[in-house]
Amino acid sequence: MNKFEEYATKFVQSVGSKEGAVSPVLTTSASFGYGSAENAEGIFDGSIKKPLYSRMGNPTTSKLESIMAEMDAGIGAVATSSGMGATTLATISLLSSGDEIISIGGLFGGTYALFSETYSRFGIKTHFFDVDELQEIKNRINDDTKVIFLESVGNPNMRLPDIKAIANIANSAGVALIVDNTITPLSISPLKLGADIVVYSTTKIISGNASALGGCAVFRAINDGDDKFKSTRYKFLDKFINKMGKMALIPNAKKRALRDFGMSANAQASYQTLLGLETLPLRMQRINSSIELIAKELDKNGLNINHPSLSKHPHNERYKQDFSDGCGTLLTIDMGSKEAAYKFINNSKLATITANIGDSRTLVLHMASTIYSDFDKGTREFLGITDGLIRVSIGLENPLDIIQDFLNAAK
Ligand SMILES: *Cc1c(COP(=O)(O)O)cnc(C)c1O
Repeated sequence: MNKFEEYATKFVQSVGSKEGAVSPVLTTSASFGYGSAENAEGIFDGSIKKPLYSRMGNPTTSKLESIMAEMDAGIGAVATSSGMGATTLATISLLSSGDEIISIGGLFGGTYALFSETYSRFGIKTHFFDVDELQEIKNRINDDTKVIFLESVGNPNMRLPDIKAIANIANSAGVALIVDNTITPLSISPLKLGADIVVYSTTKIISGNASALGGCAVFRAINDGDDKFKSTRYKFLDKFINKMGKMALIPNAKKRALRDFGMSANAQASYQTLLGLETLPLRMQRINSSIELIAKELDKNGLNINHPSLSKHPHNERYKQDFSDGCGTLLTIDMGSKEAAYKFINNSKLATITANIGDSRTLVLHMASTIYSDFDKGTREFLGITDGLIRVSIGLENPLDIIQDFLNAAK
């Protein structure tokens, strides 16, 4: 059974309720009455599990968090205002000035900018690697390395990492591995492969229809016995491990990031994300099967397509073995020049031109002139951004309509 079938049952059953309101209850209140001074004390010290204030947690958002945690076999999750919020929450909750990040694969433009331009202002240094530079990655790890960050599918370079091999490196070195799994939820389960935290932009395929900006970080449990988070590298976690045991990464993220930086999810967005989550398995299954057909047909007709399902792709074997349920909604087309790319984009009658991905509709965008326009030539080369590169996010349309429209647009 593929992952999508398993979750098709789980999600519709857990999003809806069997008694009372079937659709998730939307609680938009920012604050919550505590009833008594004693209750207030208990809510603040965590002994009473009731909402404190919506920056720290909200009942609608909690429902989303519990389903996301279950989806990835985590001990818990923290939903955020955006995918960048989730990446910031997960990383900054483990980092201090003087620390280092090892960033592998990808990389989404916002994450690249966060690491290279923003964190560097606070004394945090990032080393960037391609997914196959395993030896260089090992050599780079030192006592200051607190985070290894990985994108499960390169957006937009379409390179696929060997997540297990990288998780093994992170585990033997005792360093946290955070995986951005935005592009391919369900078909890849990073925590099961040995990662510690998974982050998502739920704005993309999880909501699926451009109705809500959001993000989520899912955390693994701290082990009862030995655990890399009990080492001196993560000394600051001790107090949370002593108090909260296997949950420790969550209060750490809430206190060191959510409370102070305030990247909290909005309840309305959490509600809409839950509605999207309910049909995620169906949409993933549909698009992952469409995309292989579309990549094959466009490639056969002479378009320069980058997708790991094609036998010419350097990670085709890895795709077949490790990504057997597919790797998400993205493929890229290299039209050779900016002019040819613009012509293709303007000729397409079906595609929507936008920076989003994972939508019900097929979306396209010229990379060099938009998301990566701020970056210099060397950085663009490293990230695989050529002058003619178009990123395509395949939607729910009939794949034959997409093929026909794209072949017409390329004429
Ligand atoms: C879009 C995206 C993000 C950022 O998400 P936002 O919700 O736009 O903040 C992070 N990582 C990847 C891979 C993305 O595609």
